[in-house]
Amino acid sequence: MKRREEMGFFERLYVVEAFKGVVLTFSRLMRNLFLHVLHTAGLAKDVKAAASIQYPNERRPYPARYRGRHRLTLNSDGSIKCTSCFLCATACPARCIYIEASEHEDAAIEKFPHRYEIDTLLCIYCGYCVEACPVDAIRMDTGLHPEIYPPDPRLFIEDKETLMERSRLLETYGPERLFQMHMKRMQEIEKHPFEAA
Ligand code: SF4
Ligand code: SF4
Repeated sequence: MKRREEMGFFERLYVVEAFKGVVLTFSRLMRNLFLHVLHTAGLAKDVKAAASIQYPNERRPYPARYRGRHRLTLNSDGSIKCTSCFLCATACPARCIYIEASEHEDAAIEKFPHRYEIDTLLCIYCGYCVEACPVDAIRMDTGLHPEIYPPDPRLFIEDKETLMERSRLLETYGPERLFQMHMKRMQEIEKHPFEAA
């Protein structure tokens, strides 16, 4: 930006500069409109028609430390890693983690979570649970958004099976494919909000 004393005569009049601004804006508008028409006809798809992101069909790459939906990690035999130490629930400022511990039938394992639930409506996605866990049993590296339209409100409370299944899905499909599946599901729910999942 120029200071007033650095401006020439026509710049100080403002009319010329305002006219140049209108020409620029209008030319961009026509260019983008033309490109949108071409895109509708299936042409020039690789040329962006607007600076904005057409979410959810497009998205910016998330930073590596993005805190997405939780998952409970698994051992190599598919069993849950969590040892029911309650450190995550203790660290959670929203008090949204509920754990019921049980004795394990294997004497070498002290206990395991018979029940593990996260109330995602209360969760503030702070990541303290992940930081607190001493055995890396809970992570938020799925890259997934919190679900905003579950067809059944009870699904806002994510149980142990849901959180374990997310680890399996992440391993099977990888983060990118998992995100696409998630967005497709969200779009379907948006289109048919009253149909059960
Ligand atoms: S992210 Fe924060 S608020 Fe959510 S469950 Fe973990 S500790 Fe609790
Ligand atoms: S997830 Fe980690 S911190 Fe939470 S109860 Fe299980 S082992 Fe403990």
